[in-house]
Amino acid sequence: MTEKLSNEELSCRFQNLEENLKVIRSRMEEAAAKSGRNPGDVTLLAATKTVPAEVINRGIELGIAHIGENRVQELCGKLDALLPCDRQFIGHLQKNKIKYLIGRVGMIQSVDSEKLAQEISRLSVSNGTETDVLIEVNIGGEENKSGVAPEHLSELAEKISALPAVHVRGLMAIPPVCEKPEDAMPYFSKMKEYFIDMKDKKMDNVSMDCLSMGMSADYVQAILCGATMVRIGSALFGPRIYR
Ligand SMILES: *Cc1c(COP(=O)(O)O)cnc(C)c1O
Repeated sequence: MTEKLSNEELSCRFQNLEENLKVIRSRMEEAAAKSGRNPGDVTLLAATKTVPAEVINRGIELGIAHIGENRVQELCGKLDALLPCDRQFIGHLQKNKIKYLIGRVGMIQSVDSEKLAQEISRLSVSNGTETDVLIEVNIGGEENKSGVAPEHLSELAEKISALPAVHVRGLMAIPPVCEKPEDAMPYFSKMKEYFIDMKDKKMDNVSMDCLSMGMSADYVQAILCGATMVRIGSALFGPRIYR
């Protein structure tokens, strides 16, 4: 699942991580300022798939407060080895795997159906807990991509808002792969519009404080368009190594 690293490889990755983090933080701050916000208004979530726990822990020591995994099995395999931090689930979620996440993650970012939300709520109730979620929006209308279609967003939020142990905290999106980062901006701007629309609806049990969009290639553009959280993997940890 994850690599076993020699000491030499480890110290090299630690050093790269420290440098990458500095660059990303300063670009994030600059973009936040350009969009009229404070540096603290935009949260960095480190996307840690394939990254060994030792490397993630170095990041946590350097101040990374939120990490996100996108496979349930990989997340659960790493949980015990991680230093304290907020752990989130950001990948495509199957109903039968939800039980492994309840009570163990601070937020599930990838809820795109009433069925998933119902199961999250049911299991949260039976675990005596509550679960924060984001609704994932298929902003590019791509056929084989997760996310609710924008025209069904409001209806889905309403249905989830009626569930006892799930709280909608905002929206998440992964726009279509674009040639240039600027090309993603229309998608990000659309997301910002939906985010504001949803906020204006003031639904019970639905708060819109998190707009999670932007990854390594386009986090600056996402922040310029209003992202409050960016999910960054390879720009932090280097290219993913699948073994
Ligand atoms: C892997 C992943 C990211 C980060 O991707 P990078 O391009 O490496 O920054 C962000 N969001 C999700 C849902 C991911 O799976």
